[in-house]
Formats: sequence, structure tokens, C-alpha cells
Amino acid sequence: MAQIIDGKMISTMIKDECKERVAAYKEQGKEICLAVIQVGNDPASSVYVNNKKKACAYIGIESLSYELEEETTQDELLKLIEELNGRKDVNGILVQLPVPGHIDENAIIRAIDPKKDVDGFHPQSVGALCIGQPGFVSCTPAGIIELLKRSNVDICGKNCVVIGRSNIVGKPMALLMLRENATVTVAHSKTQDLREICKRADILIVAIGKPKFIDASYVKEGAVVIDVGIHRNENNKLCGDVDFESVSKVASAITPVPGGVGPMTIAMLMKNCVDSVLLQ
Ligand code: NAD
Repeated sequence: MAQIIDGKMISTMIKDECKERVAAYKEQGKEICLAVIQVGNDPASSVYVNNKKKACAYIGIESLSYELEEETTQDELLKLIEELNGRKDVNGILVQLPVPGHIDENAIIRAIDPKKDVDGFHPQSVGALCIGQPGFVSCTPAGIIELLKRSNVDICGKNCVVIGRSNIVGKPMALLMLRENATVTVAHSKTQDLREICKRADILIVAIGKPKFIDASYVKEGAVVIDVGIHRNENNKLCGDVDFESVSKVASAITPVPGGVGPMTIAMLMKNCVDSVLLQ
């Protein structure tokens, strides 16, 4: 049976480290503040936004909440971002995605000052990651690196297969694993012989967005398996992109869903907020 990589415990460790750093900044008279913008009231987005605000409260980060109407225009949203970019008391700006269809998501991401881009989605942040410069890193992949390191998984020189090439998970994940000196293969929906490619992985990171897609037949004996997916199954229970039951019998270590990658995303957002002070 594989070692279970406990994302809940590791995320709590990271949040507690952030809490200590925030307390130290407060002693120097420095407060940290995150502006959270939500457009419309998509229920899933509201849950994410609330969890982010709760994490801020736990750590001692002030959060400014902007709940905008669904009909908010792109210009109105851009104006708010511009105002927040200019405010010295605001360290991080987060626009909860997706935004309603009449707003150009890329224009919004580009409008955020890269020094306040705590989600790490701005092209400048992504470019900095690509060429090894300082900048914010997308929270989910950054959290996966922390999970691996804090579970003592060796990355250097290992064969890593990332399934998925999205801008928020797959691509930055591949760049981060490359930065950690893994030999990286990125697989996606057009990849041929996916099973054979996955079978070569020492570390398999799965971000496909399809429930229980990866079963034991894709996994090499002793591989480390990271499951990024989040879904609700027919019984309304959470499950991942990996079939935990079969894969945990062949892997040496695996992240569960829930309690694996999920809690790390918010912890890394908090870490980005605290780190923002260093970039500003
Ligand atoms: P996405 O839909 O943007 O990307 C999915 C990727 O999987 C695509 O690049 C596609 O090429 C690839 N893919 C699809 N079908 C495939 C197939 N049959 N074979 C190989 N590759 C295939 O999704 P995303 O935003 O990257 O998210 C992936 C999953 O992770 C989703 O379940 C999402 O809910 C979850 N997620 C979790 C967190 C978290 O905090 N835990 C954060 C972001 C996303």
C-alpha cells in the first residue's frame, strides 16, 4: 500500500509558517492585504472566495472583498483593478475565475500589476517562471512541489510525466519540475500511447479533468502519483482524476482526493501574499 501524501497536514504547516511571518511583519508595523474580486455569484466561485477569505483571517492577512454584479462591464472591472494597483496598502489582487462571458479573462489577467499578481497568471509571471526569474508561481503547481519536497520525494533526474497542458496547472507544473531538474514529458488530449508514456514515469502528475481516468495499468510499480483532479461522483462524494483504489496498490506514494492537492492551493496563495512584500 502506498504512502499517503497528506496535503491537509502539509498545507496547515505552510499556513502556520505564513502566520508567523505575518506576525513578524506586524511587529515591524507592516500589514498585508489581499483584495479579492468576484463578479457574479456562481456558487462554486463563492465557496472558493469564502475559503480564501477564511484562510486570510486565520493567517492575519487583511482581505478586502469586492462582490460585483454579474452585469459589471469589463471597463468597470478594469477601473477597479487599476485603482487597486495604485493602492500602497493592497499587496495582492485576486480576480476569481471564471469571469462572466462578456468579460475578456486575458485582459483582466494582464491588467493586474505583476507585483500584486498572487495567482501567478500574468504573462510576466509565467515568463519569469520560464526563464528562472523571481515572480509569482501559479498556486496549485507550486503546492505540488511543496507536497513532493516535504514528503521527501527526490525530483532531481527523475522521469516526470505531467498529464494536462492547461495554463494554470499543466504548463507551470512542467516548468517547475524542469526547474527541479526532473526530465519532463507533457502529455495531453492528442498524445498517442498515453499508457506507455505514463508507465515510464517515476513521478506522475495527473491534471486531466476526467474522474478516475488513470488506473493502475498506467502506473509503474513504485511511482509517486499526484492527483490534481476534483470531481463529485454519482454518490456526491469527491474523487480525483486517478482511481485511488487500484493505483494506491502499485504506487509508492499517492495524494488522496480530498485532502491531497486541494488544500495546498489556498496555502500557496497565502504564501504568495506574504512573499508579495519581498517583491514590492
Ligand atoms: P483543463 O480542462 O484546462 O485541462 C485538462 C488537460 O487535460 C488539457 O490540457 C487536455 O489536453 C488534457 N486531457 C484531456 N483529456 C485527455 C486525455 N484523454 N488524455 C490526455 N490528456 C487529456 O483542466 P485544468 O484546469 O488543468 O484542471 C484539471 C483538473 O484539476 C480538473 O479536475 C480541475 O477541477 C482540477 N483542478 C484542481 C485544482 C486544485 O486546487 N486541486 C486546481 C485547478 C484544477
